[in-house]
Amino acid sequence: MLPYPHRCTDPLIYSRSGHSKRIGVFIDRDGTLIEEKHYLHRISDMKFLPGIVSGLRKLTSIGMSLYLFTNQAGIAHGHFDEATLAAIHHHLLRQLRAVGIGFRGLLYCPHHPEAEISTYRCDCGGRKPKADLLFQAALYDRVNLAKSFVIGDKLGDIVAGKKAGTKTILVLTGYGRQEAANIAENSLPDYIAPNLAAAIHWVISQSSCGPDNPFRGEELVDKIADPQDIGSCTRKNKQYLR
Ligand SMILES: [Zn+2]
Repeated sequence: MLPYPHRCTDPLIYSRSGHSKRIGVFIDRDGTLIEEKHYLHRISDMKFLPGIVSGLRKLTSIGMSLYLFTNQAGIAHGHFDEATLAAIHHHLLRQLRAVGIGFRGLLYCPHHPEAEISTYRCDCGGRKPKADLLFQAALYDRVNLAKSFVIGDKLGDIVAGKKAGTKTILVLTGYGRQEAANIAENSLPDYIAPNLAAAIHWVISQSSCGPDNPFRGEELVDKIADPQDIGSCTRKNKQYLR
């Protein structure tokens, strides 16, 4: 079954699942998971960035919940419609599913305050750097935001994550390098990674180090292919590697 799509204006049904300790990894789409294309609207133009598969598999194997979350103002500006976006996302999620990567949710906002199409013209709280999509996921899916992570190539991703109380990682793919030059106090990420794979290594290392970590170190090490390639935080977990 493919994961649920959630539009910023969808009604919320509180507590979709009984799981109370879900840890989310919220991953931006363009420039983070797939190549940045200006207003991507053709499936044939969608290309995953290299090296993402094993890291995403690791996250799911240790029980983290993956969410795609994305601004899609191309709809507001009339470059494509929501049916086209749905087809792209359907294809994207099926491609990932085919290699064993299951995203739990797909969160998107089609709005823009200066939209050409009037029905999409609004200063929506679901549009990053605002954080409503994250808060909605927290309510809808019982995500513990304080233990969750946001990964993106724009400072808008970082600001949204900080507003929601997640840890934040800026990747240097997509717009990441130019965004890194403009980091301010309110957009200071917890970590800067060259790409999504490296960001995921850091996420795993942080998850294994936190005092309230729901995963015990033995389980974590047992489930990853090569414990040595996790980030520096594994120092604290070396006891489990012996
Ligand atoms: Zn919206």
